[in-house]
Parts: sequence; C-alpha cells; structure tokens
Amino acid sequence: MEMLRCCDGPNILKTNRKIAVINTPSIIKIATEMAVDRDKCMFCRIYDGKERNDIYFQDEDFVVFEDHKPAAKHHLLIVTKEHIPNAKALTKQQKNIAQRLMELGRQMLLERGGDITDARYGYHWPPFNSINHLHLHAISPASTMTFLNKSIFKESSWWFVSPEYVVDRLSE
Ligand SMILES: [Zn+2]
Ligand SMILES: [Zn+2]
Repeated sequence: MEMLRCCDGPNILKTNRKIAVINTPSIIKIATEMAVDRDKCMFCRIYDGKERNDIYFQDEDFVVFEDHKPAAKHHLLIVTKEHIPNAKALTKQQKNIAQRLMELGRQMLLERGGDITDARYGYHWPPFNSINHLHLHAISPASTMTFLNKSIFKESSWWFVSPEYVVDRLSE
C-alpha cells in the first residue's frame, strides 16, 4: 500500500516481555519491549549496522538518519534505539522519550540546514504504522512535498499525529 511505503515488511513476534535496563546513563530505565527479532526490523538493522544508512546523530537512546524515500530535501527519522513499537505504545513513564524525540527533531532539522518555519513533524498512528519501531518524521521544506506526500504526512490527521499531541497525551 503506497501510504505505508516508509514502513515495509518487518515481521515482529507479538510476545510481550519486560526488560529492566540497569547501570546505564540511559533515560530509558525500564521498558516494555516487544520480543523482537532485530534482524527483521529495518530500523534495528540500521542501528545495528546491518543496513547501509548515514547516521547523522546518535546518543545512548536515539539515532537519527535520513528516510530512504525522502518527501522533501530534508527528511529525517528520529528513532529510539530501543524497539518500542509506536507512539501510541508509549506510557506516561516514557513521556521524556516523547519530549526528547520532539526536541531532537527540531534540533537536527536545524543542524542539517532545514527550514524550521516550513517543517512537518509527526508520527504514524496505529494501525497506520506497518514499521513497528517508534520513529518521528521531521520534514522540510514541507511546502515542497508532493500532493501524495502531503496526504501521507498530513498534519494532525487520524493517521499522522504531531509530536505535541503525543506529549500532551502522556501528560494527562
Ligand atoms: Zn515512517
Ligand atoms: Zn526495531
């Protein structure tokens, strides 16, 4: 399906499992992670160095690279290193992840030379995310997107939500 083109193919085992991460400076202390074959997830493969991609930034928790089918001159994906399935799966305890993703999106777009006054940020909202690995899209200049891409990444639609919406939702 064309609409889901950034999200092709991962096959994730659906077993839930609790993982405690200790002795790490990570802001992600305890996380519910899908038991996942990282080899079958495109984003895990990129982070694990199994897929070619220029990584623009990474720290303990996040990695930033270009969308493989950019919708504009700058089209960044801000991705958690941990395999969290999607923005809807974030818990209130993980609000800091949503905040950091939002900050990193703006910061990285600026650093890469994007126009932050003409930008589109957002997450696919289930069930419209077939790549089940949390990622924020940061696109600029948004006004140059094709009609199709403007629909795919349509601001505050029921399939693509803003980073502010996700933070607010976790603040309630
Ligand atoms: Zn995507
Ligand atoms: Zn993954």
